[in-house]
Amino acid sequence: MLRKLEKEKKITNMLYDSKPWLIRSGEVLKRDKHKCKSCGRKTNRVHHRRSALYHPEMSLYPGNLVTMCDKCEGEIHNRN
Ligand SMILES: [Zn+2]
Repeated sequence: MLRKLEKEKKITNMLYDSKPWLIRSGEVLKRDKHKCKSCGRKTNRVHHRRSALYHPEMSLYPGNLVTMCDKCEGEIHNRN
């Protein structure tokens, strides 16, 4: 379990450090006006509708990305 988490963290960290991601997430934040799509709170977080881990081919697809605050994203992950 721990090993799996470590691996997942490595993969997502690689994405979040990449230049294409920084550019694309900036575009998404601009598109959504830095507001959480769920509650409207100001945030700089971009959420993947489909996990970047299981759908890496969609990790930079604008339709798969949505601005979402910590709290709302946490609620989604808890539900799964
Ligand atoms: Zn929110």
